[in-house]
Amino acid sequence: MTVQPVRLFGDPVLRTPAEPVVDFDRELRTLVTDLTDTLREQQGSGLAAPQLGVGLRVFVFDVDEVVGHLVNPVLHYPDEEEQDGPEGCLSIPGVYVDTKRRMNVVAKGFNQYGDPVRLVGSGQIARCAQHETDHLDGVLFLDRLDPERRKQAMRLIRQAEWYDPERPPTIKISPHPSPLGLGG
Ligand SMILES: [Zn+2]
Repeated sequence: MTVQPVRLFGDPVLRTPAEPVVDFDRELRTLVTDLTDTLREQQGSGLAAPQLGVGLRVFVFDVDEVVGHLVNPVLHYPDEEEQDGPEGCLSIPGVYVDTKRRMNVVAKGFNQYGDPVRLVGSGQIARCAQHETDHLDGVLFLDRLDPERRKQAMRLIRQAEWYDPERPPTIKISPHPSPLGLGG
């Protein structure tokens, strides 16, 4: 087990866009293992490298018994369908707020050996892919909420035991507009 501490909301690394992976080397495979072990220990559905303090475009997922990882992911949306349901984040423990996402996603990227891979999914796995790819752009699910829901989320965060008022987290009202049309 190589479980690593998960960085919490307020840590600047979560707001820093990650760099594309260039070397598909042993270091990358260690990162994928650490991410996978940490995700399993935390019983989450997804974890992105910046959440372990690593600024590389890598995430892992564990949704409905499907475990995997994606390097340098690029998301495509085959249609306009949306979903709305509870979303949380291992970097924002205990806070779950309904978040609108696209229903269907095709994620293209690479595995840890540099082979091209494609992840086609709907519902939870699509939500996960969008959430984790956002992490790689320094975007959090809070940024995807409408103002009312964001207020609700911030209330929950301020009440959370891990919240540190000495290190106030920032909300990005306008995340980078995606050329693929991911709204928010
Ligand atoms: Zn997250």
